[in-house]
Amino acid sequence: MTPEPGARTRMPRTNTCLNCGLEFGAVGTPDGSAARPLKEGDITVCMNCAAVMMLDSDLNVRGMTDSEIEDLLCDRAAMTELARMVRAVHFMRHEQN
Ligand SMILES: [Zn+2]
Repeated sequence: MTPEPGARTRMPRTNTCLNCGLEFGAVGTPDGSAARPLKEGDITVCMNCAAVMMLDSDLNVRGMTDSEIEDLLCDRAAMTELARMVRAVHFMRHEQN
């Protein structure tokens, strides 16, 4: 079955943001494009506090290693997309307050 655009991909179990404690059980795409199956190493951004986390082999969130952060910092396209996502969360929070 092909996911609908903007669909969320359910995680195997409820996860907790490592920064703010928000519980979540699904992830979505920032641009509403069709969700794809999750995989180890995917980066996710908390929709409450914009913490940047990575999925482990069990698809649970974990912090990123220094090496992973270095690799990300060297990927200009990924950093541009990540900055856009973090900015969107902060704008969304500002609109709610
Ligand atoms: Zn959070």
